Amino acid sequence: MIQIRDKSKCCGCAACVQRCPKQCISFKKDSEGFLYPEADASLCIECRLCEKVCPILQEPHSHIPKQCYAAINPNEDVRKNSSSGGIFTAIATTVLSEGGVVFGARFDTDWSVIHDHTETLEGLAAFQGSKYLQSRVGNTYQQAEKFLKEGRKVLFSGTPCQISGLHHFLRKEYSNLLTVDFICHGVPSPSVWQQYLLETKKQHSIEQITNISFRNKSNGWKKYRFTIEWINHKKEKNIFSEFSYQNIYMKGFLKDIYLRPSCYSCPVKPLKGCSDITIGDFWGIEKILPDFDDDKGSSCVIIQTIKGINYFDHLKIKTVEVKYNTILQGNPSLEKSTFLNKRKKETFFRSISKLSLKDNIEKQIRPSLYQKTINKLRKTKRRIKMFFKSKFQ
Ligand SMILES: Cc1cc2nc3c(=O)[nH]c(=O)nc-3n(C[C@H](O)[C@H](O)[C@H](O)COP(=O)(O)OP(=O)(O)OC[C@H]3O[C@@H](n4cnc5c(N)ncnc54)[C@H](O)[C@@H]3O)c2cc1C
Ligand code: SF4
Ligand code: SF4
Ligand code: SF4
Repeated sequence: MIQIRDKSKCCGCAACVQRCPKQCISFKKDSEGFLYPEADASLCIECRLCEKVCPILQEPHSHIPKQCYAAINPNEDVRKNSSSGGIFTAIATTVLSEGGVVFGARFDTDWSVIHDHTETLEGLAAFQGSKYLQSRVGNTYQQAEKFLKEGRKVLFSGTPCQISGLHHFLRKEYSNLLTVDFICHGVPSPSVWQQYLLETKKQHSIEQITNISFRNKSNGWKKYRFTIEWINHKKEKNIFSEFSYQNIYMKGFLKDIYLRPSCYSCPVKPLKGCSDITIGDFWGIEKILPDFDDDKGSSCVIIQTIKGINYFDHLKIKTVEVKYNTILQGNPSLEKSTFLNKRKKETFFRSISKLSLKDNIEKQIRPSLYQKTINKLRKTKRRIKMFFKSKFQ
């Protein structure tokens, strides 16, 4: 029977919850806002299926990348609404045109994030764009299994640990399944996101939200913005918009204060998610392939299986083959887990009910006296160096 003793050893994929034949495992939210399985011992028959499908207990192996690319979807509308180069939509559109089903993450009515499926192009739009918080997988592995058994093509997209969870849940290879994950920095707490939304709505008198984008490209892909579109009671359209480096929720996310514990020692890095194709932002492309960069979004693509190669070869997209290390250079999250500052994280969650989210995050990201001194010393060293350079050159 599954028992979580160390939270860093559970990524919340829900494979155990969905596989238990007695339905005696349920997800419970902890004080940080993440879901963990809890089994009802009185109903358990000790079949240990929950342990057999757990991607972390089964210790996945790394894959060797077969091909790597820089890629861009030539459809400008698709690229505008995608976080990177719109490669997810290119793959998903092909699967839908073959009568397949696509699984991905979308906003729910309360702007939390859930996994869901679609069989239409209209439905696909909701999966576009990164949502920087953990999605609830629900019973989507069971739904995917049903479609696979019916012989339908299935594309399942998600974090590497969600893809690993799906493969372990299925426990057999399906030729009609294609999986796509992404380079993953980690997933923030859904409760912190809800607190952010509540406070922002109040502070900016936001009424009915109609859309949220974590990666709005109106100022370009590299300087992306966080936006909330909303309408007031007179049905007038409004927008709340900030550069991501100004937005307090994004600052806390990128400073790694409220990620899921498993993300600080990611069990599926490097390339252990068993997905066919891994996509990500091609950070640094302007130095590597300047002609390829128009600041509207470029993807990196890492293909890990023959199935992935076969699908990718048929896409109508712009590509240039690159080396794996070239992608890794600009995207260390591909192999390295995020650094855990235990003290900052614990202080943040301890203060969550006492401080506003803004004050709480600002307190944690403020540089310490030690850091300030180091920064000052570095600045002085740079100035001295420049002084001597200008004097003696
Ligand atoms: C939490 C998170 C962390 C990420 N970290 C990195 C990183 O460190 N480096 C990097 O290069 N790229 C990262 N990405 C991926 C990147 O932001 C793009 O999503 C990716 O490059 C695909 O872009 P696209 O233009 O092809 O398609 P898009 O349309 O942008 O991709 C959307 C895809 O992301 C999935 N998705 C969106 N939100 C979630 C979610 N919360 N949970 C699960 N699946 C989701 C959708 O189902 C769909 O498959 C991250 C994404 C997320 C959600
Ligand atoms: S051992 Fe079997 S019955 Fe018990 S919780 Fe795990 S899957 Fe369910
Ligand atoms: S990692 Fe997934 S399968 Fe393993 S215990 Fe956590 S939710 Fe269950
Ligand atoms: S960093 Fe690892 S554990 Fe965290 S969401 Fe991403 S794949 Fe899962």
